[in-house]
Amino acid sequence: MLTLHALRETPALLKLDLYCQGLRLDDSCYIEEDGGRRILRTRAGLGSGLELILPGGLWTNVPVSEPFAARSPYTLHREKGGYFLRRDGWSVADVALSPRPDWYERTTSSGKPMTRIGTLQGTYLGIYPAKVCDYWTAKPERTNCRFCSVGLNLGVDDASEKSVAEVLEVVRAARAESGITYVDFNTGHYAGDTYLDILEPYVRRIKQELGLLVGLQTPPHRDLRRYDDMRALGVNRVSFCFEIFDRARFAQTCPGKHAEYGLDHYLEAIRYCAALGGRGPRHEPWITNGEIIAGLEPPESSIRAIDWIASVGAVPTVCVFRPLLGTDLAEADPPRTEDLVPVFRRLYEACMDRGLPIGCAPNVHVSLVLLPEECASLSPRRYPLRSLKLKAMRAVFARRFTRRLAATRLPAGTEGPPVP
Ligand code: SF4
Repeated sequence: MLTLHALRETPALLKLDLYCQGLRLDDSCYIEEDGGRRILRTRAGLGSGLELILPGGLWTNVPVSEPFAARSPYTLHREKGGYFLRRDGWSVADVALSPRPDWYERTTSSGKPMTRIGTLQGTYLGIYPAKVCDYWTAKPERTNCRFCSVGLNLGVDDASEKSVAEVLEVVRAARAESGITYVDFNTGHYAGDTYLDILEPYVRRIKQELGLLVGLQTPPHRDLRRYDDMRALGVNRVSFCFEIFDRARFAQTCPGKHAEYGLDHYLEAIRYCAALGGRGPRHEPWITNGEIIAGLEPPESSIRAIDWIASVGAVPTVCVFRPLLGTDLAEADPPRTEDLVPVFRRLYEACMDRGLPIGCAPNVHVSLVLLPEECASLSPRRYPLRSLKLKAMRAVFARRFTRRLAATRLPAGTEGPPVP
């Protein structure tokens, strides 16, 4: 049973409850006029909501457009220029709107709105640089993941073709004005496994010219040695979204992924890439993520997935299922918060039990998921030695990163805020 007291005292629980229940906007809110970000449907099925900052510095993306959000006990209010949340009429927390940067209003030199090239997800830049995933255009029947909205989005909020020059222009603006430290590229499946070839030129230029951390979220290439190349190129993160650990549900919910790669190849790619950490350039950190969606299978199965991912040295990423408008699962119910608390508690404990390097990237606040380190307050267990080690790692990494940014300095007067 969630109490108001627990929600007020535990921002992670509030973040989770908002994912599951959504939010209604009171008439007093003036999101864009107050410098907030407008609601964009751009990411592979999960981000469609209002970007907010909760107590404890937890960035989030709260569902507001879906029918379940219209029934939410949460309402957002504005008073004297500030924002706060109520649940069933009771005050829960003061919140802030995630700031909308000036570059959101500009176009690239080629005339495209910059937000059609990339958008901020919390404090990092997310880019979907290529055409729509092939599963959306498969014949005779599309085979897209049933929760996914990418095929609905492209051409609406996202530009379908994004040149390297256009992407670099937006990344520069985001580094200079928003102080981003990390760029995340996301693709769907393309025949011939071309996604890594497509992304390579973008990565090369960003690493050479801007020194930022770069991550790739793509299907698992059939030739796993390609990830040795990505590691050598300076990629810092690879993420493989198998979504569901239960084999029957995986096949049913992700028919394209099941037919093309199968769950086993996803798992093999995670295992292979997690072992690459010790082999690449020492100055480039390397992390492998296995990503699942909680709420599409029983919590025990999500927990098994978390334990498996952590057991091979990868960090689990756990999204909360959001039945997005227009998708095949639009009519499904979102998960219940109470059912997911054990999943996110295990997320933290599995990472700490295995000594995984969580929360080390400087200034990366993620709005679309609850990060493992954010879930510490959901667990009664404490890890004093490991926490100290992580703190030290964070400090070393921030120092190195600041030096690296200094070596790729932007023109005078355009450098963004310092890395905290
Ligand atoms: S692989 Fe699935 S989730 Fe990813 S873009 Fe294609 S249909 Fe969407």
